Amino acid sequence: MNWEVVIGLEIHAQLSTQSKLFSGAATSFGAEPNTNTTLVDLGMPGALPVFNKEALRMAVMFGSAVNAEIGMTSVFARKNYFYPDLPKGYQTSQMDHPIVGKGFLDITLDDGTVKRVGITRAHLEEDAGKSLHEDFHGMTGIDLNRSSTPLLEIVSEPDMRSAKEAVAYVKMIHSIVTYLGICDGNMAEGSMRCDINISLRPKGQEEFGTRTEIKNVNSFRFIERAIYTEIERQADILEDGGKIVQETRLYDPDKDETRSMRSKEDANDYRYFPCPDLLPIELTQEYVDDIAANLPELPMQKAERFMSEYKLSEYDAGVLSATRAMADYFEEVAKAAGNAKLAANWVMGELSKYLNTEGKEITESNVSAEQLGGLLVRIGDNTINGNTAKSVLQAMWEGQGSADEIIEAKGLKQVTDTGAIEAMIQGVIEANAAQVEQFRASDEDKQKKMIGFFMGQVMKASQGKANPGVVTPILNKLLKG
Ligand code: ADP
Ligand code: MG
Repeated sequence: MNWEVVIGLEIHAQLSTQSKLFSGAATSFGAEPNTNTTLVDLGMPGALPVFNKEALRMAVMFGSAVNAEIGMTSVFARKNYFYPDLPKGYQTSQMDHPIVGKGFLDITLDDGTVKRVGITRAHLEEDAGKSLHEDFHGMTGIDLNRSSTPLLEIVSEPDMRSAKEAVAYVKMIHSIVTYLGICDGNMAEGSMRCDINISLRPKGQEEFGTRTEIKNVNSFRFIERAIYTEIERQADILEDGGKIVQETRLYDPDKDETRSMRSKEDANDYRYFPCPDLLPIELTQEYVDDIAANLPELPMQKAERFMSEYKLSEYDAGVLSATRAMADYFEEVAKAAGNAKLAANWVMGELSKYLNTEGKEITESNVSAEQLGGLLVRIGDNTINGNTAKSVLQAMWEGQGSADEIIEAKGLKQVTDTGAIEAMIQGVIEANAAQVEQFRASDEDKQKKMIGFFMGQVMKASQGKANPGVVTPILNKLLKG
């Protein structure tokens, strides 16, 4: 059977405000349990929430970045359910009047085509606390530090048709929220989590099939794998003539399978109603326009600028603007080196090799942008050649100092003195008399092929330090006799 997969995503992005959505408690990660809390976060009856204006600004920034209608009047609603990590008995969220309405964004697929994905809405809501199952002598503890941390839930239209498209979409959202500086994007710490809605339909059928929702997947790789396994599971059921049960499932990366968690709840189950403790938020057009006019540069715009300002290829510009941290690092190297093309090559080439080998992000690089720029300056002014620069980078990565310090300490300066180079070439010619004779007896084509051998010998004699630009003409002259 030929199935078409349909995917819609709900992404929870934790907004990087200093304090919580409805209280003045800090949002910092890793504090002692229940220390980042006020009466509001603990769910004490009668404690009144106070809305965080900064979270509002961040949500409007996101809305502007994805071409969305901004909800000029938005309303907080209570989503009622019981869970130990939610002492109030409801989550304050938004239902009928979200802060961000319909929008869209364009994603670039591997084959270079651009696909538009609809944004249904994005709303503000508070996070819940956390159950701690360790170290409590068989009991479970509740940590309310995360309670009332601001989240922006970003809901997409069911527009994606493959795991690859879904991953490209999540990467784009990740890139946008980190460029905007409204979320740190740290998926391992849970700052961005993803619910994947997925269904199959026979190719050519208009109507959507029944979907399942895979909750809380927190890495790009797991998103892709969870989708593949869920497609397979649903296809097996459908091909056996069975029916998909609409339910919430969990992805287990160790077993690479999804498991049923609970049957799908309906919006009605939550008895949503407008929160009587919070007034509707009324925005002025001036407030919204001002935010839209002052948005920072977004990934697409940055890639375009890299192409026009630095003459980078589309591919290079795409890679170097993929994350804000990468883009900032590259631009700093380019500035320090005074050569953007060289900077692009080294950041994407040699430096990335070290990062990949050690599984590090650009922000964790052993070599700072300024240090790498300093190394590239020494290639540019012919102090060292590209090959020597690779060994200097290795020493820099190992913490042996700046490029200049390493070049000095190891005596790696390139030899450009023509007298010294001529002497070295003489030595090579004397030591290889037979090859020289053969060279002189050959035609020009053959000679061109043989020159590499002599060049290699000179490089060996100079321990890689001879400047090839100086060696070539002298070598040619002396070989021809
Ligand atoms: P709920 O409120 O139950 O989470 P929504 O209607 O808000 O449901 O949809 C949630 C997400 O599911 C959206 O991202 C939407 O695009 C996606 N979705 C809806 N129907 C389907 C379907 N048949 N197949 C795949 N995804 C779907
Ligand atoms: Mg949902």
